[in-house]
Amino acid sequence: SCHDNIDEPKLSKSKGKSAEAQFKKERGGSKEHLYMIVIGHVDAGKSTLMGHILYAMGQVNQKTMHKYEQESKKLGKQSFMYAWVLDETGEERTRGITMDVGRCQFETKKKMVTLLDAPGHKDFIPNMISGASQADVALLVVDATRGEFETGFDFGGQTREHALLVRSLGVTQLAVAINKLDTVSWSQDRFQEIITKMKSFLKQAGFKEPDVTFVPCSGLTGQNLIKKPTENELLAWYDGPCLLEVIDSFHPPVRPVMKPFRLSINDIFKGTGSAFCISGRVETGALNVGDKVLLCPSKEMATVKSLSIDEVSKTVVFAGDQATVTLSGLDMQNISVGNIVCDTQSPVQVASRFEARIVVFNVKVPITKGCSIILHHQSLEEPAVICKLHAQLSKSTGEQIKKHPRFLGSNTSAIVEVQVSKAIALELYSECKELGRVMLRQSGVTIAAGLITKIIL
Ligand code: GDP
Repeated sequence: SCHDNIDEPKLSKSKGKSAEAQFKKERGGSKEHLYMIVIGHVDAGKSTLMGHILYAMGQVNQKTMHKYEQESKKLGKQSFMYAWVLDETGEERTRGITMDVGRCQFETKKKMVTLLDAPGHKDFIPNMISGASQADVALLVVDATRGEFETGFDFGGQTREHALLVRSLGVTQLAVAINKLDTVSWSQDRFQEIITKMKSFLKQAGFKEPDVTFVPCSGLTGQNLIKKPTENELLAWYDGPCLLEVIDSFHPPVRPVMKPFRLSINDIFKGTGSAFCISGRVETGALNVGDKVLLCPSKEMATVKSLSIDEVSKTVVFAGDQATVTLSGLDMQNISVGNIVCDTQSPVQVASRFEARIVVFNVKVPITKGCSIILHHQSLEEPAVICKLHAQLSKSTGEQIKKHPRFLGSNTSAIVEVQVSKAIALELYSECKELGRVMLRQSGVTIAAGLITKIIL
C-alpha cells in the first residue's frame, strides 16, 4: 500500500520544546481525548449502536429516552429508538443550533471519546472524508445477518470504501463491531467467517493486524457494548473484551505539538462585533491567545482573540484538539472552509500543481491523462485534473515498473501530477503527514488516495 513506503515526517525544531512543556503542564493530568469516527454500510446499525452506548453511559436522560421509546412505538418503529438519540443531534446540527456536546461524548476508564460521525449524512462520503481526516481512530460496524454482511462487503458496498478511506486518511487503529449477532443466534462460526473475510481485506488496505480488534455485539439488545455479555449463547465461546474496553485500549494517538502550527478550517461563523470564529482540528503545533496567524491560500494575517474547546474557553490549544478560534483583523469574506490557518514564521505552501503517489481504488473506468476529478484535501473540495501519469509503481516494492503509463487500472500504484483549478494550501507528506494527503473522487466515487511528494510552484 502507499502508506508504508514513504519516510516518516522529520520533526522541525522550531518552537517545539516550549510547546511540548506547555502541553505536559496543561494536559498532563487529564484523560486522553480521542476522536472516533463511526463508519460502515448503511443499515449496519451504526446509529443504534452508538445511541445505545450513549444511553447506557448516562449521556441521554431517562425522560428523553422514554420519549423516544413512546414516539417510536407510536410509529411502529421501536427498533429505531436508540438511533434517534443521534438523529436528533444531526438535525440540530443541520439547523445550526449549537449541539449539546455531551451527547456525542462519553468517557471510558482512560479516555474522553468524542464521536465524529455526522449521522444524518451516512451516505455522504465527502462529509465522511472531512470527518475521517479529523479522526484518531475508527469504529467499523458490520451487520452479521446472513446476506447483509455480504451486501455491505461486496463491490459497491460501503464497508470496503469506508475502511479504505479512513486508512488512506491516516487512521491506523480500528475496532470492528460485528453487530446484530442476535440475528444469527450468536453463532461463533458466523463471527469467524466474517473475521476471516475482513482480515485479508483490511491487511490489503494497510491496517496492521495488532491494530485491528473484532468485537461481537448487538447494538439493539446492548450485548457486549459497555459490559461483559450476559447472553449464554455468546458466553459459551466469547470471553474477550466488550466494545467499550476495546475503545479504552486504543493507543493514545501521536499529538505533534512540537511542529509549526496548522489548523484546517471546517466551519466559519460570526462572533461578536467584527470578530468571527473558525473551527477545526489543530493538525500540528500549538496556538495561544494573542498569537498572529496566517490564513492560506489568501496569505492574510489575523490575530487570535480567544480560543475554546467544546465551548470551554482556553488560553492555548494543541495538535489533536478540535478548537474554535476567534480571529480579528481580517475580512470574513476572504476565508472559506478548507483554508489552513498557520504559523507566520513557517507557513504552509500555496500552489495549484503537485505530484502525488497514489493508490487507485476499485475503478470501473481506468484513470487516464487529462481526466477531471474532485480533489479532497482536509475539508477542501476543489475541481482538478490529473494532467500527467508519470510512472506506475510496483505495489509491493514501490519501484517504478512503467514510465508514462497510458492508463491506471484498479489497485495500481503510481506517481501522477495534479493541476487544481486554483491555488490551495498544502504540504509535502514528508513534512507534514496531516496536510500531505489527498483523495481523488469522480462522479461521487473515490477513485484514489494519495500522498503529496512534490509541490510544483
Ligand atoms: P445505520 O444506518 O448504520 O445507522 O443503522 P441503524 O442504526 O439505523 O439500524 C438499521 C436497522 O437495523 C434498524 O431497523 C435497527 O433497529 C436495526 N438494528 C440495529 N442494530 C441491530 C442489532 O444489533 N440487532 C438487530 N436485530 N437489529 C439491529
